[in-house]
Amino acid sequence: MAYEIPLGLKPAGAKPVAVVTGASSGIGAATARLLAASGFAVVVGARRVERLQALAREIGGTAQRLDVADPASVRELAERVADVQVLVNNAGGAIGLEAVEQARDEDWETMYASNVLGAMRMTRALLPKLERSGHGHIVFVGSIAGFEVYPGGAGYTAAKHAARAVRQTLRLELLGRPLRVTEVAPGMVETEFSAVRFRGDLERAKKVYEGLQPLVADDIADCIAWAVTRPFHVNVDEIVVRPRAQAAAGQVVRRMVE
Ligand code: NAP
Repeated sequence: MAYEIPLGLKPAGAKPVAVVTGASSGIGAATARLLAASGFAVVVGARRVERLQALAREIGGTAQRLDVADPASVRELAERVADVQVLVNNAGGAIGLEAVEQARDEDWETMYASNVLGAMRMTRALLPKLERSGHGHIVFVGSIAGFEVYPGGAGYTAAKHAARAVRQTLRLELLGRPLRVTEVAPGMVETEFSAVRFRGDLERAKKVYEGLQPLVADDIADCIAWAVTRPFHVNVDEIVVRPRAQAAAGQVVRRMVE
């Protein structure tokens, strides 16, 4: 369901612009669709450009190749976007489920680069334009991994804990300026997340969601679109959203009786 942008949040004679990172699949793509349906001009960024171009055509948005782990790529996007009111820092994910004993440096570095440094770089690059809009809003797609831990999850939970700290710090630093900061922290959402985590092992990825009803990307897009369409005096600090069948990262019930 689309939302309505409150009159006070609409720039004169133009649609407000939203930049969504990691929009080539899952939560980012669903968010781009819902924001477009709600009246935003959406700029979609990710590395897989063909997917982005198809999405941009579908929603009447703009596709921009983006690797949030690459400072030059972030700069390029920031230079191309003239005005921006909403930034959704969604690009990221997990790689591997190895115990700390078997941790691979490159996996941890990749997770930190996208989930933490990427969100910091995007925020820093777009902050002047977000502020100039008079109604800036930065949304972090965090995770319950930002405040819970589980065996094998240390690389990912460390990155999401760090991203959460960045979001909480920004909320303090931006106080008094025309900028809102929100974190949406989902539990289990069925997207390409597990396929990426298990390096393309689709059988293993499918098992994660077996016997329960996970969230879908649209459920998270709904939280994001709701938060960014509240009147501007309202700052939704955080939304934690899980499937009913999941009470904590490692606490799920499968084949739940309805
Ligand atoms: P997904 O379907 O795998 O989507 C991840 C997106 O991030 C893709 O569009 C990917 O695009 C993009 N991405 C990854 N690294 C990037 C980089 N360096 N630069 C630009 N884009 C990058 O998974 P998802 O579930 O939608 O994940 C979206 C966010 O939700 C992530 O931050 C994830 O940690 C978070 N989250 C997911 C779950 C879940 O259970 N699914 C739960 C809590 C939080 P390209 O590969 O094309 O660049």
